[in-house]
Amino acid sequence: MDYKKHITIVEDWPKEGIQFKDITTLMDDGKAFKSAVDEIVEYAKKVGAELVVGPEARGFIVGCPVSYALEIGFAPVRKEGKLPRETIKVDYGLEYGKDVLTIHRDAIKPGQKVLVVDDLLATGGTVEATIQLVEELGGEVVGCAFLIELAYLNGRDKLKGYDILPLMTYE
Ligand code: IMP
Repeated sequence: MDYKKHITIVEDWPKEGIQFKDITTLMDDGKAFKSAVDEIVEYAKKVGAELVVGPEARGFIVGCPVSYALEIGFAPVRKEGKLPRETIKVDYGLEYGKDVLTIHRDAIKPGQKVLVVDDLLATGGTVEATIQLVEELGGEVVGCAFLIELAYLNGRDKLKGYDILPLMTYE
């Protein structure tokens, strides 16, 4: 399916010079959204995923229907202070400054095969931090799926050795 026709490019948002890829117009279209989720479900089966992990907030939108379809769990990765029980955390670099991502300490069983899902791969910082959390808990990252890869930001370079599925690539 040609998913790109469902993506809206918003110029200068959230700041000047950024071309934001808005996935809400893909989600608005039931058939296109289902088709995208189905492709990730097939990929998850292929890599043998036993758990889906996704960072807030758009990683939930794409990851939860995948876990629902496969009857496997979904573990949320969230900004600091959002998860109610004991967490582990990782600092990761943003373009300006730093942020923190957390996951519940008991979210992953040692050796569990994990699929990391997010809406978009840009510089790779978010997914790299998510992988770090999964691995610190003993999970095995068997794949990383995205709706969109912004190839010009070279996020892939941070994911050497990991299997990646982007449904769309912008060069
Ligand atoms: P990265 O950490 O630089 O790879 O940025 C990826 C994260 O930023 C993802 O969690 C995305 O949700 C978000 N993001 C960055 N650019 C865009 C965009 O153009 N559209 C939607 N989300 C974006």
